[in-house]
Order: sequence, then C-alpha cells, then structure tokens
Amino acid sequence: MKCFEFFPVIVTRYPQDEDHAPILEDEVHARIYYAEDVCDGDLILASFSDDRRSDYFNDQYPASGYAYSPDCGCGVCCHLANHPGPVVVLADWGGWCDPWPANALALIIPTEERQIREKG
Ligand SMILES: [Zn+2]
Repeated sequence: MKCFEFFPVIVTRYPQDEDHAPILEDEVHARIYYAEDVCDGDLILASFSDDRRSDYFNDQYPASGYAYSPDCGCGVCCHLANHPGPVVVLADWGGWCDPWPANALALIIPTEERQIREKG
C-alpha cells in the first residue's frame, strides 16, 4: 500500500507567453514535493505563493543541492538566516544560491530514474 499526501494548493496551467520558456519535459510527470525532498536532477518548475497558487519560474532548472549556510556570503542565503525552520539550497547559480525553507512546496518533474523508482 502506498501513502499519499495531499497538499492544499492550486496548480495553475503553465503560462504560455514570451516570459516563460517552454517546458522541456512532459508536464504529466509534474509533482509537488517539499523542498527538503527535492533531489539532484529534479526539474524545478514553480514555488507556491502566499495564496497557495503555483508561481512558475521563467525557466525550469535542475536541482543541485548544497548545504545551507546563512553566512555563505552570496547575498541570498542571508535573507533566510532568521527563518524559524531548516533551510535547504536547491541550486547554486555560480555566486548566489537558491535557498528554500525545507517545508516549502515545490512543483517539480522528478528525474526519470526517480519516477521509475517511486512507481515501485
Ligand atoms: Zn548562499
């Protein structure tokens, strides 16, 4: 038996405009994960705004996690230095990081290997 968790969010349709790059993977594989459960190689599509709607990034990007340090000096990590819970870094953009609260929800397309493994 599998366990499923339902999240109280609304996943809107991916914007079809000049501001958003086409999604290069099949959107049918998109899933919602906690940021702390995102793995290297997962394709990150969106975060969720305060009104719990998907907030798509202009372009998808692969996760490549790093340890979070509020003192890393990138100019972004320091913004979560006072976050009350754990923080994870989902990407390094060559000089600045992509820190997320560990319990934030992310819309991702898991790696193909992970999709196969989780179908189990
Ligand atoms: Zn940083």
